[in-house]
Parts: sequence; structure tokens; C-alpha cells
Amino acid sequence: MRAMTGVLEGQGLSFRAFPCAQSSYCTDSVYKLLRPTCNDEAMSRGCPILISSPHSGTLVPLNGMQHVDVSRDILTQTEDSYVDELWHGAASTSGVTMLSALFPRWYIDPNRAEDDLDPDLIDVSAGLPPGMSFAPSTKSQMGVGLIRRLAAPKTLIYKQLLLGEEVLHRIETFHRPYHNVLRSEMLRLHQKHGQVLLLDVHSMKSVGNETTPDGPGTVRPDVVLGDLDGVSCAPQYEQCLKSAFLDIGYSVKINNPYKGAHIMKLYGKPKQGWHALQVELNRGLYRVEKTREKIPDKISTVKSDLSTVIQALLTNMKAL
Ligand SMILES: [Zn+2]
Repeated sequence: MRAMTGVLEGQGLSFRAFPCAQSSYCTDSVYKLLRPTCNDEAMSRGCPILISSPHSGTLVPLNGMQHVDVSRDILTQTEDSYVDELWHGAASTSGVTMLSALFPRWYIDPNRAEDDLDPDLIDVSAGLPPGMSFAPSTKSQMGVGLIRRLAAPKTLIYKQLLLGEEVLHRIETFHRPYHNVLRSEMLRLHQKHGQVLLLDVHSMKSVGNETTPDGPGTVRPDVVLGDLDGVSCAPQYEQCLKSAFLDIGYSVKINNPYKGAHIMKLYGKPKQGWHALQVELNRGLYRVEKTREKIPDKISTVKSDLSTVIQALLTNMKAL
């Protein structure tokens, strides 16, 4: 099979795209899945936690910059830079399964529904291809639907409308494979442990602005946990995680200003033993927000803190 270069830019990383029957990418090219492998028996059994990082991908697919009218640098501001790296150590040393998207969230966002299509971005004049439907939410109205129209307030990403075929390609090649593996890992861990807790990990600006729910100038805590106002997770699991953060001195708020979105809605079904929490980390904890520059000392501290949090969460969950 002939391999093609599948990346324009991506922090030294690269992956290869293989032409497949239905699409130009094999599904395992669009995400990274870490499953615990360890000789220690307890570790190899794994644990009922799954971490998902849907917004930390940086690899722009082949032709992904077509029709884009802003710089890669501006686009990068929409991404949850380094979030995958921050949680990776905590996952690998604790027997936690971790899934990360490799593609950037502005290209297509796993935390939006497939039909959350922005009418000001998608050309629907000739109808949509079979298999696509159209149900824009308030996110699309704000320019941050399935495919983002805005990189920042008043900053359009594309210089022209996108065709339905292009959107369907992104859904079939990136969005669905990510959800297929997320769903199958939830099923696997639930089957194995009887309960499963999904931590969907993100990052947030340290201060709100005119486009965020909390408004301009609002200072955020270190961590915001989202459970769709009590819907997506049993309260005792959320309390375990909240306590783990409080115990290491982090400030925590619940559902304010972020409650969770599509991923919480899909996978947070506590009555079925599927629990889901969105975890927003304050970017000021580990990077210079404006330049995205890492702050090495702080990055190391946050990585170590997250390992402590995961260990405490596991211990507290076992005690329930
Ligand atoms: Zn995010």
C-alpha cells in the first residue's frame, strides 16, 4: 500500500496516511490510543478510568489548510495545546487508558455533534450529501460548531463556504473514527469493571472574555469540572475527583463556566454505569497564555500533580 505524507505542520510529529477503500486515511492515523501494558498484575488489569483528549491534536491533514484565510499560529490558539502531554504520564503510570485526537479541533471538533453545522460556513444550497443532516446548535451560531467558522472573535477561518462533500469527508475520516474508538473503549472498560469513568480533558483561558459564558474579566479557578449540571456522572465520583484536586491545593469550580458538551451528552449515562466528567485546566498553570510558550518548571509540577490526582482518584473510587 502506498503511503502519503499526511501532515503539513505538527511540532516535529508526523503520521502517514494510507489510501483506504472508503477514505484517504486509515482510522488509526487520526488518534493515539494508550492502553496500559505492564508486567505487574494489578496494573495490567487496568482500571475503570478512560482519559480522552479531543482538542490537543496538532497534525493538519493533507489539504487541511485549503481555503483557510488565517495563519497556523492563530488557528493554534483554538487548540488545547500540551493537554495530551500533561495527562499522558499520569495515565501511563496508573494503568489508565488514554485516547487523544491527532487532528486539530478547528478542522473538526469531536466535542460537537455531526449535525452541528454552521449555516454561515457550509454551502447547503445544493442540499447535503446522503448521510448528513443539519441541526445547528447555539455553538454553530457562535461560530464554534462542528467545523469552526471563527478562530477568535471576528476572525473568520475560511475565505469561502465549504462544500457538503468536504464536511462529510472530515466526519467520516476523523470524527467518527474518534468516537468509534471512544465508544469501544468505554464498552470494554465497563464490561471489565462494571463501571467506567471518562475524564474528558481540556484547557481554558485563565480569564473569561466577551465570547465565553462567564464574560470578560472573570478570573477562573485552577480546575473546572463539568457534569452537565449533575447529569453525566454519579456525584460520588465527581466528589472523589474534586477532593483529589483540592487536596493538592488546586481551586475547583463545578459547571461554572463550562458544563460539558457533546462528549458528556454521549457518554455520561450514570444509570448504565457510564460516568463522564469534563476537566478544564487553567492554562496559566503551565504556559504563557498569549505565546503558548511552555513554562518548564510549571509543566513538570502540573504533570506530577495530575499523577497524584489520578492515584488519589483511584484509591478513593475503590473505597466507595
Ligand atoms: Zn477543549
